[in-house]
Amino acid sequence: MLGLMQSQQLLISTLMDFAERHHGEGEVVSRRVEGDIHRTNYREVAARSRKVANALDGLNLAFSDRVATLAWNGYRHLELYFGVSGSGRVLHTLNPRLHPDQIVWIANHAEDQVLCFDMSFLPIVQAVHSRCTTIKHFIALCDADKLPADTGIPGLQSYEAWIAQQPATYTWPEFDENSASSMCYTSGTTGNPKAALYSHRSTILHAFASALPDSLNMSARDSVLPVVPMFHVNAWGLPYSAAMTGAKLVFPGPAMDGKSIFELIEAEKVSFAAGVPTVWQMMLSHVQAGGLRFSTLKRTVIGGSACPPAMITAFNDVYGVEVLHAWGMTEMSPLGTVCTLKNKHLTLEPADKMNARLKQGRGIYGVDMKIVDGEGAELPWDGKAYGDLLVKGPWIISEYFKGEGGSPLVDGWFPTGDVATIDADGFMQITDRSKDVIKSGGEWISSIDVENIAMAHPAVAMAACIGMKHPKWDERPIIAVVKKPGSEVTRDDLIAFYDGKTAKWQVPDDVVFVEAIPLGGTGKMQKSKLRELLREYKLPGT
Ligand code: AMP
Repeated sequence: MLGLMQSQQLLISTLMDFAERHHGEGEVVSRRVEGDIHRTNYREVAARSRKVANALDGLNLAFSDRVATLAWNGYRHLELYFGVSGSGRVLHTLNPRLHPDQIVWIANHAEDQVLCFDMSFLPIVQAVHSRCTTIKHFIALCDADKLPADTGIPGLQSYEAWIAQQPATYTWPEFDENSASSMCYTSGTTGNPKAALYSHRSTILHAFASALPDSLNMSARDSVLPVVPMFHVNAWGLPYSAAMTGAKLVFPGPAMDGKSIFELIEAEKVSFAAGVPTVWQMMLSHVQAGGLRFSTLKRTVIGGSACPPAMITAFNDVYGVEVLHAWGMTEMSPLGTVCTLKNKHLTLEPADKMNARLKQGRGIYGVDMKIVDGEGAELPWDGKAYGDLLVKGPWIISEYFKGEGGSPLVDGWFPTGDVATIDADGFMQITDRSKDVIKSGGEWISSIDVENIAMAHPAVAMAACIGMKHPKWDERPIIAVVKKPGSEVTRDDLIAFYDGKTAKWQVPDDVVFVEAIPLGGTGKMQKSKLRELLREYKLPGT
């Protein structure tokens, strides 16, 4: 017997319909490439996404055709999120921080038909357009009068001129909720990048789950600042969960420095912000240097790489901002776990509470996880046993776009490439990326643990731990450190700083001071690049 409930496909267009009808006045504020602050609301965004849909029909794009963006976080990008997916096409957010050759490769692999780009990226598009063999239409995300006369890009038109003539009425098509809605290529640290292809259903289910109180706790009373780029796993799904809840959206545009972000938080009364640790490091430095305080920021979700304890402490204890440490992947839409405490943790001593907060968190409904040993046998949830982390659920990939790399699943589970423990309360803690774990004398050293200790030193701005070949121990850890401007610390000081904080054999053998640690397109430390930079390096005494 079937249930007698109405059947409605879970489509992204329904989010914008809802936001327009129930939160039409809900604000969407963007810092633009031009530098000014632009204000609009869900009603206007909905109308303009329908114009986008009409404009795409005008280009004769077929169902599932890919429309690429090369854009910062802003209202026009938001309109494309809904106009492209809502009309049945696939939004492909290209990462402008990649090398132009990679952008070409990815655009051709995705078979993008249209490219919409912010004017900051005009030089990139000028350099690559002739090699992007499938792109037929180029749209610059600007007013008509901001378009330079001769760009060399065939048929280039401004976004505003493109949608101006289109009607703001459009009947969103109904189709199977499993249809593709958007795609994102993974960082591609090895081999060619591969794409996760999200569906309408996976996107809506993910938006529901991430809005829950024990996830990101999104509501109509929030003012949300996604610092995480809209080209990094759909800004962690925030545009969708904001439309679902009617939260105010605040977009930073290209100004990602600490000062600009802080000013936007204050001016737009941001209550909730999301980003990778490197971004918050910049903002904390700015806030600390100027003796500033946050007046409205209540919580911040930090993920993408491990959040150093020193950062959690600074936010919580000094600024009264709750840190939600979260873990996920491009392949997981991205949310997997969020570190929100259970009742039993609330009465813990501050140090024990902090230990719980440091973990990457517990699974949200919709994400099942397990850890396994080298033979694939499941390991206990005791907070000690560590092994490869596998996940499954309705917003986790079943395979990559075009079947690249074959089936990634092992007995229906997706291997994350992370090594983790899970404790009896279900709190998962990443020990390392499996390729970053340091193997010393048959034992594993977590590079994250080594980095976290260094990051707690007052003179350290950034730290990255990598393994170096060692004739006796196989590998030994060293730590590359960027000093805070105006601060001093010597190699011996820093090594001494590890005393009592970790087992002796886990203390790095050496400290290498560097100007900067290479960061990837999404602001994560690129240890492969760091290894390349230090290829001439020799461990002391070897
Ligand atoms: P990406 O798909 O580029 O977002 O990368 C996903 C990977 O980032 C994960 O597999 C982890 O290795 C890493 N990652 C994401 N969030 C965290 C976190 N909170 N702590 C440690 N590593 C993380």
